[in-house]
Amino acid sequence: MSTQGKIGVTSENIFPIIKKFLYSDHEIFLREIVSNAVDASQKLKTYAAVGDFKGEMGDTTVHVAIDEAAKTITISDKGIGMTAEEIDKYINQIAFSGAEEFLEKHKEDAAAIIGHFGLGFYSSFMVSKKVEIITKSFKEGAVAMKWSCDGSPEYTMEETTKEDRGTDIVLYIDDENLDFLQKDKIKGLLTKYCKFLPVPIAFGKKQEWKDGKYEDTDQDDIINDTLPTWVRKPADLTDEDYRKFYRDLYPMGEDPLFWIHLNVDYPFNLTGILYFPKVKANIEMQRNKIQLYCNQVFVTDSVEGIVPEFLTLLHGVIDSPDIPLNVSRSYLQSDSNVKKISNHITKKVADRLEDIFKTDRPGFEEKWDSLKVFIQYGMLTDEKFYDRAAKFSLLKDVDGGLFTLEQYKELISADQTDKDGNLIYLYTNKVDEQYSYIQAAKDKGYNVLVMDGQLDTHVVGMLEQKLEKSRFVRVDSETVNNLIVKDAKVEVSLSKDQKESLQEVFKSQLPTLEKTEFTVTFEALGSTANPVLITQSEQMRRMREMAAMQPGMSFYGDLPEMYNLVLNADHALVKTVLSDEENSCNASLAPIVADLKGWVAREEDLRDMQKDKKDEEISAEEKADLENTTNTISSLTNQRNTLLAEYATGNKTIKQLIDLALLSNGMLKGEALSHFIKRSVDLID
Ligand code: ADP
Repeated sequence: MSTQGKIGVTSENIFPIIKKFLYSDHEIFLREIVSNAVDASQKLKTYAAVGDFKGEMGDTTVHVAIDEAAKTITISDKGIGMTAEEIDKYINQIAFSGAEEFLEKHKEDAAAIIGHFGLGFYSSFMVSKKVEIITKSFKEGAVAMKWSCDGSPEYTMEETTKEDRGTDIVLYIDDENLDFLQKDKIKGLLTKYCKFLPVPIAFGKKQEWKDGKYEDTDQDDIINDTLPTWVRKPADLTDEDYRKFYRDLYPMGEDPLFWIHLNVDYPFNLTGILYFPKVKANIEMQRNKIQLYCNQVFVTDSVEGIVPEFLTLLHGVIDSPDIPLNVSRSYLQSDSNVKKISNHITKKVADRLEDIFKTDRPGFEEKWDSLKVFIQYGMLTDEKFYDRAAKFSLLKDVDGGLFTLEQYKELISADQTDKDGNLIYLYTNKVDEQYSYIQAAKDKGYNVLVMDGQLDTHVVGMLEQKLEKSRFVRVDSETVNNLIVKDAKVEVSLSKDQKESLQEVFKSQLPTLEKTEFTVTFEALGSTANPVLITQSEQMRRMREMAAMQPGMSFYGDLPEMYNLVLNADHALVKTVLSDEENSCNASLAPIVADLKGWVAREEDLRDMQKDKKDEEISAEEKADLENTTNTISSLTNQRNTLLAEYATGNKTIKQLIDLALLSNGMLKGEALSHFIKRSVDLID
């Protein structure tokens, strides 16, 4: 019996469409045809199990063969085969409505099109000018059939002879795709897509080294592992099995920290193994290592949209027939199964971490440095994960102590609550550079956290929002007395004049640093604290940090760095500088200062008189008077400043104090540093 017919598509002609639109992803034809062959073999096993097939199963290995001369690739299986009716039903009739519109929309996405129309088999036409199906059903008395189609909607179907049950798909590769006839190319594709298929797949022969070259043996080369670790029962697996599988997947990787074996069958099917890798310094390098499978067929290794973003830092394999694979990514994100799966994985990951934390806290702490970025990333991006991880996420202090959020709160609440009832978390992001600030805080009985990780800036922001009445303050953002303001500040016992001269004396000796400004301030920090300190307000610093991370806010990034040079009025050295300055300068300074005071008072009076008048009501004389006063003030101020600066230049202590403060902030560099060293040596002499 021989028939001819037209493939049942409602669109005029499906083949030009396949060829025209599916120009990307051509290679997936092999995945589709081989997995059909595997399905056919699996179905036969199922029939045998329920008694619908009573014959010999025999060897069901699927064979993939290239014939370079005939320019064909043949995929042969010993599966269920098809009868003429089945070919008609499964191959010839393709439901195909709204096709043009859909194709136009998804023309770059072969996977979506193939999935949408159930065109697995037809994807072979992406690379073939002709396809033949030679098949014989397992059913008793079945007649072998040969179906042939040359890429037009017309096909022929006729009876043929075939000894064995099963199907041969013969692809006549077209001229544009001849590279698929290369052995290495097909081997590469089989390894990529079919490495873990459940039925043996043979491609070529195993080779052996003989007489100085590789030669084929007569043994089939099986390219796949039919029972990959994730489909085996956890109870049958040792730690070494899991590690070995990891090495199979990532031959270059370091051993993982630990893993989760996923196995769900309700309300969706999901198996897999997720590994926690040792997180590298740069988290971007970690991504896209999870491989997604559908019934052991490789689908993709970019799983965004399927698992929450932070989980893409994990490695391993997820296998689910319930993830709609052949659809676009935007569709995936709204699919309810995908959402459920994603929630489930998040929950399992949290369960596992919590479990290790509870049963083996020392082990958990040991791994903390590697887990930290992962857990923090999860907390920052996933509310649900935050709620779980808040129990086991840790904070590390400068002495290496690790605390949960709850424990830490308890630890510091007695000593680090400010006058308004806020809990102040002190932290450093550079242990070495901020050493003296850390030490000062510790001397005061405070605890200091280390927040120097890639995500810690964001974590600080997150915790301030999540934890009630809590603020994070970097140790160098204030002098130690003001880090945690407990009661009214101790007043500085210096007169206004004294402050002004000291300010000028120090200001005149500050180095000019690019994009850096200093304000000289005073505090009473006690006689044992440092004489001069440099601080940077937490708020200003954060504003700059945020700006640096956000495009379009470069305005803040362009602002100079603002620092405070804090003089400790209680310190003997500062007092000495002051008295020395008074002794040396007062004689020449006193008349200028007295004069200046008179002029300042006069300026105030003049402004007072003029402030309620309109411009035209002020006489020219009055205007000139004010201008003259202002000029005199500025010239007197200049005189005073020059005097003070001259004095300061000859005073080594002032320079030395400034440099010491810069040094403890890591701001003394280059020429200034070598001046400092030289001056220090001179001072010892
Ligand atoms: P899908 O596999 O998604 O159903 P395909 O276009 O790949 O779509 O295949 C259509 C149908 O053709 C299959 O469902 C199956 O019934 C039949 N088929 C394809 N290949 C084979 C094969 N090697 N052996 C037996 N039946 C096959």
